[in-house]
Amino acid sequence: MSIIELDSVVKRYESGAETVVALKDVDFHAERGEMVVVTGPSGSGKSTMLNMIGLLDSPTEGVVRLEGRDVTEASEDERTEERRSELGFVFQDFHLLPMLNAVENVELPSMWDTTVDRRERAVDLLRRVGLGERLTHTPDELSGGQQQRVAIARALINEPDVLLADEPTGNLDQETGRTILEEMTRLKETENIAIVAITHDEQLVQYADRVVRIVDGVIQ
Ligand code: ADP
Ligand code: ADP
Repeated sequence: MSIIELDSVVKRYESGAETVVALKDVDFHAERGEMVVVTGPSGSGKSTMLNMIGLLDSPTEGVVRLEGRDVTEASEDERTEERRSELGFVFQDFHLLPMLNAVENVELPSMWDTTVDRRERAVDLLRRVGLGERLTHTPDELSGGQQQRVAIARALINEPDVLLADEPTGNLDQETGRTILEEMTRLKETENIAIVAITHDEQLVQYADRVVRIVDGVIQ
């Protein structure tokens, strides 16, 4: 059973009299322990696809499955719960809160969870991404690569099954991008998670177990 599955997904956007078909009959899957990289030209449907996988938007036609569960018709509350417990998100521009330090940023998505020692887990994750000496630094006191490591630790705080990354190396120089990719490659194995990353970065493609190319809403 795939951890994530899109089955014959079509996504149409209606804007006024115009209809854009952003995804045309897309089949996609991702498995634990693999990094799937989604590439393609601008406007080809990558973000739309990531939004489907991330349960941020619903398909016009087709089925979305998470760990075999059909979540296509899930309510907004159910989606929020699935996102919180099963999915971690990493963005190009890190999305860290500037007034919080590294530990507090990492803890933030787990604030609802009273069953665990969140502080301890956040510190442990930051150590594992090599930031054990930067726990109380705020984002403006960290380099771009360090900020992305904090964002990756934050994405893992609720022990997701899938890490979704939108241009994770887009704001980093090549060398820093490489260290982030090495980190992600390591985590996909130690955490046994699926990683789905969209990118234009040829470097990222080299770290992929599988590359999915999408052009004009169609997987090639
Ligand atoms: P990519 O991420 O590959 O650049 P997108 O998924 O953002 O591509 O967009 C795919 C197509 O769908 C584009 O033609 C884009 O203009 C269109 N599109 C994306 N989101 C919307 C939206 N919310 N409303 C209308 N059209 C959209
Ligand atoms: P990316 O650079 O990651 O492809 P885009 O700039 O295409 O991102 O899109 C950024 C956000 O805007 C996405 O969430 C996408 O759904 C939305 N979007 C993209 N194109 C359109 C559009 N034509 N109309 C409305 N929203 C859009």
